[in-house]
Amino acid sequence: MSAPGSGPRRAPLVVGNWKMNKTNPEAVALVRELLPALLPTPPCEVVLCPPITALTEVSLLLAGTPVRLGAQNLHWEAGGAFTGEVSGAMLRSAGCAFAIVGHSERRHLFGETDETVARKAGAALAAGLAVVVCVGETLAERESGATEAVVDRQLRAAVLELPGDALARTVVAYEPVWAIGTGRTATPAQAQAVHAHLRGRLAERFGAPGSGVRILYGGSVTAENAGSLLAEADVDGALVGGASLAAAGFAAIVRAAGVRGAR
Ligand code: PEP
Repeated sequence: MSAPGSGPRRAPLVVGNWKMNKTNPEAVALVRELLPALLPTPPCEVVLCPPITALTEVSLLLAGTPVRLGAQNLHWEAGGAFTGEVSGAMLRSAGCAFAIVGHSERRHLFGETDETVARKAGAALAAGLAVVVCVGETLAERESGATEAVVDRQLRAAVLELPGDALARTVVAYEPVWAIGTGRTATPAQAQAVHAHLRGRLAERFGAPGSGVRILYGGSVTAENAGSLLAEADVDGALVGGASLAAAGFAAIVRAAGVRGAR
């Protein structure tokens, strides 16, 4: 697959992050409503990340479909006395193929650091999961001109140290903190500028395989704005929070990503 423009082809990917929403019956209802809009062949790769309590139920519904299951978080240890935590192997056994790490809510509300995010990324990959590593600046950081320095630091910690053979299972999500759940989306040009910067860093470190790493945009993506964001050369897909909680809107975002893939 290829992004518009030059460089390796990158298959568009849309990840739905349900956050702490949906009881099990609600999760089942959402997936039952969503699947007919996506099957038999979703217009692009799709990953659903329900809360941990619904992973198994959703996994049963996704079995035999190309829609993949992801987790919103994991612990870096393989097992042991870590009350309330789950390991990569546990997530795999619940049907997950992906895990999100370093979401800004984890960083800002739960004190995750570059170091713990890096450990989580490594643990997810070691467990055989693909990983979506989130990076992004706060509003104050953007306004002080620190956007590139912040995403560089986050990328260096969690992605640039990975072995090259992990790249095929590594996705980066650029999520400006000021755009998450706020209804305030980065403009396509703002998103493209940071994505191009990240792409440059990946290529610098890994060469051509680095250019093949998918970079998703996240931050108040909706059915209305997805098309213009996904038209940018380096926006390979979307990490969608609020708009992934309703089937019709999420399916429309997936279709917009499919249009990108068909170009
Ligand atoms: C997210 O949860 O990663 C996210 C981008 O949320 P929202 O789409 O609601 O801004």
